[in-house]
Amino acid sequence: MLLMEYIARDLLAAQGIAVPRGTVIESEADVSRASLSFPAVLKAQVPIGGRGKAGGIKIVNSVQEARDTAARLLGMTIKGLTVDRLLLVEKVAAMQEWYLAILLDRGIKVPMIIFSPEGGMEIEEIARVHPDRVVRAQVNPFNGIQEYITRYLLDRTGLDSKYFEPLHTALKQLYRVYWENDCLLAEINPLMVDHEGRLIAADAKITIDDSALPVRHSKLLAIRDTLEREKLVLEARKNKFLYVPIHPEGNITIMSNGSGMLMASLDTLQQRGFKANSVLDLGGGATADRIAKGVELMMTQPGVHSLFVNIFGGITRCDEIAGGIKNAVNRLRDHQFIVVRMEGTNKPLGKEILRSIPPGKIAMVDKLSETVGVLAERMGRI
Ligand code: GDP
Ligand code: MN
Repeated sequence: MLLMEYIARDLLAAQGIAVPRGTVIESEADVSRASLSFPAVLKAQVPIGGRGKAGGIKIVNSVQEARDTAARLLGMTIKGLTVDRLLLVEKVAAMQEWYLAILLDRGIKVPMIIFSPEGGMEIEEIARVHPDRVVRAQVNPFNGIQEYITRYLLDRTGLDSKYFEPLHTALKQLYRVYWENDCLLAEINPLMVDHEGRLIAADAKITIDDSALPVRHSKLLAIRDTLEREKLVLEARKNKFLYVPIHPEGNITIMSNGSGMLMASLDTLQQRGFKANSVLDLGGGATADRIAKGVELMMTQPGVHSLFVNIFGGITRCDEIAGGIKNAVNRLRDHQFIVVRMEGTNKPLGKEILRSIPPGKIAMVDKLSETVGVLAERMGRI
């Protein structure tokens, strides 16, 4: 799991590393509520590096400029990712920009420190432009960060020994971030050096080992799930669907056209002891494309294994509905399953199309009440 900067910097701060004062911005209005001094920096929050070059980092000199810039940044895309939140931080007056990272070296199977006094750009670029200014040091995990490591880093880069204390402290703190969060990578770039020689982490990139999330880092897992849900809400809105999350731990999801029928479907399943993960109202004019899109959206949710589609085909014909489902079936994950109930125009033709879908992926029911039995049988098998 790659953490976004605003989450990663909290992990740094928790170990005592200095980070610029700042706040998360989700709308233009949030800017006025932030009590920060200017100049400040507005930073697009996307889980990807090189935001600066892509136009996602802007220096602003007043509240008004921050508002205008925030309005422009929110909603922009960076390398295909939509920006839905920003970080507004006080600008650090930097004398130098360093690079400091600890990562798991899979080759030698120990943590590896990478340090360079030429930070600011991405490490690949630093290594290309200043290969002799990038230093690596292995960490013996039984000993952790020892003084000789910091001395070695300073020595190899020719930095003044006055930086020993701040660098050594930052290194020990970053190592704790790395160790306690089961990181694959904990990177600070740039690590700013201010005029008094203090170090401030102006950007952070942290990757957590996914295998450690469920048991050891349930808080981070919850953050990931929330972020994924928020993305889904936005994606649904973009498609003019109404998406409502219900129980994050539920494994059944429901799709329907019309809120009344959606609620009846939800009530029926919940009364019989099922936990719905979420529901989606396709709204009017449920074309094959929209149905396929809806199926795809609902089935990307982690933990969801069954989808109940309950659709009334009035203007929309059942063969159109069935066609949409058929198109989406290929994209299901192995264990995923769809139960379909449809009523209305061209139902026999629709059923015929559904019958041509390979078995094991789909079941058809005529009555709402039958759904419960089909799902129960299915869950017994999973
Ligand atoms: P990235 O491009 O995604 O890695 O985003 P960064 O957060 O690293 O920002 C890119 C660059 O913007 C940094 O290398 C700095 O040169 C500059 N920058 C970001 N925040 C500050 C700040 O607080 N003060 C100063 N002086 N420069 C900053
Ligand atoms: Mn950076």
